[in-house]
Amino acid sequence: MTDICICCGAHFTSNATQYILNDRRKGLQGSWLLIECGTCGLISMDPRPTDKQLDSYYAAYSKDEVVDLAPHAGERYPMLRKIFHKLSGDVDPRDFVHVYEGARVLDYGCGHAGYLRDFHERGISIIGADIADYVVKACLNSGFDVRKVDDFSKIPFSDAEFDIIYLMQVFEHLRDPHRFLSELSRVLKKSGDLYIAVPNSASIWRKLFRKNWVSGWFAPFHLFHYNRNTLEKLAERHGFYVEKWWSNTPVMWFKLNLKAWLYSKNNQLDWTKSCLDSPILNSLLMLVLRIIELPFRDRDCLVIKFKKK
Ligand SMILES: [Zn+2]
Repeated sequence: MTDICICCGAHFTSNATQYILNDRRKGLQGSWLLIECGTCGLISMDPRPTDKQLDSYYAAYSKDEVVDLAPHAGERYPMLRKIFHKLSGDVDPRDFVHVYEGARVLDYGCGHAGYLRDFHERGISIIGADIADYVVKACLNSGFDVRKVDDFSKIPFSDAEFDIIYLMQVFEHLRDPHRFLSELSRVLKKSGDLYIAVPNSASIWRKLFRKNWVSGWFAPFHLFHYNRNTLEKLAERHGFYVEKWWSNTPVMWFKLNLKAWLYSKNNQLDWTKSCLDSPILNSLLMLVLRIIELPFRDRDCLVIKFKKK
C-alpha cells in the first residue's frame, strides 16, 4: 500500500478510508482498491495499474467503438444546443471555453473529436491529441490536426505553444498527475487558460449512490478522484490558480448510477438499455434532476478554469 498522499503529503494511517470496487460498466473481471486520504480527501487507486495492465483494460474499453465524425445538430444550432445542455446537464466545452481572436487551442484527449471539429469549422486554430490509434487515424483522414500521444505523462508539443487547453474527463485517467500538470504548464503560455472537467468526489450523488456511483468510480479506469480542493491544491504546485469553478450532473451520468442501483448484478451497464432510456422518462429525469440539484453546489461533473501564473 502507498504510504503518502500525493496531494497533501499526509501519511496514510488509520484515517484513510478504503474502498474495494469492481468494474460495473465494461464487465472487466477483478477488484481494485481505492484509498481516501483522511486529511485532504484525494482518492487514489492503490496500487496504480502498470502500463501492461492499462493496455489490456483499454482494449476492453474501446472494443466496440466506431469513430463518427459526421456533423451533429448541435453544431448547426448552437443556441438550441446550449439550452438543451442547461436541461440535460451535459458539460460541453463549446458552451464555456472562451476562445479569443488569434488563440491557439489544444483539445487533450479529443476522443471522437466532436468538440474539436466544431471549433475547427468556426475557423479556430485548434489541435487535438489522443492516445487511441484508431481515433488519431480517423481524425487525420478527415483533415483534422490531431497528434498521437505515446506516453500518458508526456504532451507531444513544444513549450508555450498554446493559449488555451481543455481536458474533458481525461485527468482522472492519468497515473501521474504531478508530471502531467508540469507538462500542461510547459505547453501553455503565461496567463493561458486551462479547463479541467472531472467527476466530482464531493458530489451529493456520490453520497447518495455510494458504491453505485459508477459514473464517478469507473474502476479500473479512473485512477484518482478529485474534488475542488484537491485539484486546486495539486494545480497550485505547478503554477496555476483557480479563476472559477462550477459543477453539473449530466442526466446520462445520473441514469448510469440509477441503473447500477436498479440492476445490482449487472456489470456491463455501458451496454444495458432499460426503460430509463425511453424519451419520456429521460425528459422527466432531466427536469427532476435540475430541480433536486438546485440547492447543491457540488454536483457530479466538476469543471475548473485555471490560469497559469
Ligand atoms: Zn491528502
